[in-house]
Amino acid sequence: MSTNIEKKVVNIGDLQIGGDKKIIIAGPCSIESRDHIIDEAVELKKIGVDILRGGAFKPRTSPYDFQGLGFEAVNYLKEAKDKTGLIIATEVLSESDVDKMKDLIDIFQIGSRNMYNYALLKKVARTGKPIILKRGFSATLNEWEMAGKYIELEGNSNIIFCERGIRTFERETRNTLDLAGAYLLKKKTSYPVIVDPSHGTGRRDLIEPLVRASLAMGLDGIMVEVHKCPDNAKSDAKQTIDYETYKKISEYVGKFNENR
Ligand code: PEP
Ligand code: MN
Repeated sequence: MSTNIEKKVVNIGDLQIGGDKKIIIAGPCSIESRDHIIDEAVELKKIGVDILRGGAFKPRTSPYDFQGLGFEAVNYLKEAKDKTGLIIATEVLSESDVDKMKDLIDIFQIGSRNMYNYALLKKVARTGKPIILKRGFSATLNEWEMAGKYIELEGNSNIIFCERGIRTFERETRNTLDLAGAYLLKKKTSYPVIVDPSHGTGRRDLIEPLVRASLAMGLDGIMVEVHKCPDNAKSDAKQTIDYETYKKISEYVGKFNENR
């Protein structure tokens, strides 16, 4: 991708995001139990993954749906990290949880529903930790970029933008994955831009082709939801892939990186 903007690399331990290699963030939508996340961490580590994701505080549309295990799950995720050495990321929903979470996790995720929650953005930014900033599902590119500025102005330049689809009139997909928008933002910003085709489409049959498209466009990596038995996942089952499909994606990303 040709652009005159100097690109920033987000460093987390030995991992570089926004550098030469494309990165993979993978894991379940929600952490369902201690065994669930530890077993999945071990499996994904075997297959190959850069960052383990798992939801503890779940921003569900319906209050009757599974809301996540909260801090119990954050602790299980930390155990999974200690066992496997994987870098971990999870979403924070509330300002009051930030201080308690910051010593347990490596990366904070700001979800689509909170992209406009500037008080939360600032509070998380001040931890200095890397932040995955999901695009609001009705946010323009400018609004998304400006949300990133709220983080930057707190002195935190560890920002990873994540395109996760926007709401359009189309109903065959859960959201419309805006790859053109992600590409445009990548041209404009210094920060890495990754793509989440899981939330971006809501359909597991679309994950592989959109991973290929994202890498081919020069975006910096992908985030995908994976589960041992996707149909039994407590949240987002329809967009969740199994280990076999994940293996194909991981191999594809590995070969892509080798051939660069
Ligand atoms: C998630 O990644 O777990 C999530 C809830 O995504 P989003 O905020 O993009 O809906
Ligand atoms: Mn999900």
